Amino acid sequence: MSDRHILTAVAWPYANGPRHIGHVSGFGVPSDVFSRYQRMAGNRVLMVSGTDEHGTPITVAADAEGVSPREIADRNNRLIVGDLQALGLSYDLFTRTTTANHAAISQEIFLGLLKNGYVFPKTTLGAISPSTGRTLPDRYIEGTCPICGYDGARGDQCDNCGNQLDPVDLINPRSRINGETPRFVEEEHYFLDLPAFTRSLGDWLDTRRGWRPNVLNFAKNLLTDLKPRSYTRDIDWGVPVPLDGWRDRPDKRIYVWFDAVVGYLSASIEWARRSGDGDAWRQWWQTPDADAYYFMGKDNIVFHAEIWPAQLLGYDGEGDRGGTPGSLGRLNLPTEVVSSEFLTMEGRKFSSSRQVVIYVRDFLARYDADALRYFVAAAGPETQDTDFTWAEFLRRNNDELVAGWGNLVNRTVSMAAKNVGAVPTPGDLTDADRALLSATQGAFGPIGELLSRNRQKAAATEAMRVVGEANKYLSDQAPWKLKEDPARRDTVLHTALQAVSDCNALLTPFLPHSAQRIHELLGGTGVWSPAPRTEEVTDLDDGSPYPVITGDYASAQAVWASRPLESGTPLSAPTPVFRKLDESIVAEELRRLDEGE
Ligand SMILES: [Zn+2]
Repeated sequence: MSDRHILTAVAWPYANGPRHIGHVSGFGVPSDVFSRYQRMAGNRVLMVSGTDEHGTPITVAADAEGVSPREIADRNNRLIVGDLQALGLSYDLFTRTTTANHAAISQEIFLGLLKNGYVFPKTTLGAISPSTGRTLPDRYIEGTCPICGYDGARGDQCDNCGNQLDPVDLINPRSRINGETPRFVEEEHYFLDLPAFTRSLGDWLDTRRGWRPNVLNFAKNLLTDLKPRSYTRDIDWGVPVPLDGWRDRPDKRIYVWFDAVVGYLSASIEWARRSGDGDAWRQWWQTPDADAYYFMGKDNIVFHAEIWPAQLLGYDGEGDRGGTPGSLGRLNLPTEVVSSEFLTMEGRKFSSSRQVVIYVRDFLARYDADALRYFVAAAGPETQDTDFTWAEFLRRNNDELVAGWGNLVNRTVSMAAKNVGAVPTPGDLTDADRALLSATQGAFGPIGELLSRNRQKAAATEAMRVVGEANKYLSDQAPWKLKEDPARRDTVLHTALQAVSDCNALLTPFLPHSAQRIHELLGGTGVWSPAPRTEEVTDLDDGSPYPVITGDYASAQAVWASRPLESGTPLSAPTPVFRKLDESIVAEELRRLDEGE
């Protein structure tokens, strides 16, 4: 048991619509499995995230509906909060980027970078509408992408190839309002001086151990071609630029990506303020032996392994030009950037616009959260792109969860309940009994090691292998044939129940909902694996209401160790923990997918 401070920094889902299972496979489930394991191992976890609500796509959606960006953000924030909570993701705080606290911290980081000379003003070409003479926000300019040739690229990014753009880069730029060609005039913007972090980012990356090789190599490759990136944009929705002459301008804001990554820090500070100790966040951000793990899909590596570390180094005064820390004090860099690959769906790329999608909400309306969590952990896109198929989902659910793990629980508890009505008292153990207990108890070390390094697929496979050993033990010992030898039968059932209890602990990070039920089937009371809850709060500074995900996780009973079952604990007949799915769901789901339901 240790007592490390571990920050779990989870990618911020973008609030332009509900999230699909590809999203939660990349950032959601892996970050929660990690956090739950670390809490069970005795570490002090702070898991934070929220909805990312600024930027062009939300303003475009608002324009299309004729509502304010805030209305779009409010609606999707609430949907996403509901989905992530239903999936059992145990955030200490899941908030949003439209809080006053977030704006203040984003501005503080900008000012700290400016003070140390890592953000600088530069005259650049901005678009204005020739007919009105007013600034044309990035989203109102479209044209041909200079990188991929897609004709519907917007002024700040191309939705086809995903690259960030400047409006002046577009080929044949035109106004989306009236089709006129924008006029580009000189105006000032602020830039993050990324080349001034070439050495410091490289030194930091050189000290990183245990990263997935593709993530580390990708991050190191970025260093060969660092260019300044605009920190401010022509947009009216976002965090104001905290400078005289800029603060009140409606058309200049901090670029959405540069405020979104600050969210890890601002959410930690918001959590501390809500806890009653406004400095509590410092344990995770400023003590030298605290660790910080960042979880995301691979399309976000650049912002977590390059941009955010550069922002932190610059704020700390540790970029290539030195400096001094800002008023918050020195902030820790990531320990590891844990990036997943992509999930596809029946061989197709997820696409909300092309209806190749299944939203978390729809999934959870038909299937259990633990069934999805298990699929993601055991067969998800941990280190390579992975295809979600309904046939494989059905197989994993029916063969592994129902026939493997669920059957072991059900057989063992029901035999003990029927014959003894309680956890039986064991007699002398045989070699077979001892071998099983040594297998289940011996699994905590290696599986914990895998989970601490985010090798979750291997950890889930190993846990299910131990379940297989327990199933084999039960078949070999056949307690149902021991009517004439109740003492031996009780020893076998006690041993099997202890193995179930151990396996339940090993599977708790993956399957928190069923772990709680199995804890109760074994006669346990109270909270074993805690569930997150949605709480309605008000903004700490401006009073506006919003929902957050939070929870009481520290008092849970789950620990990463074998806990001896107490003989005599009453047991009653179990109901099945997992639901067997009918084969017909495969055809039904494929029909839904084809019809874009
Ligand atoms: Zn493109």
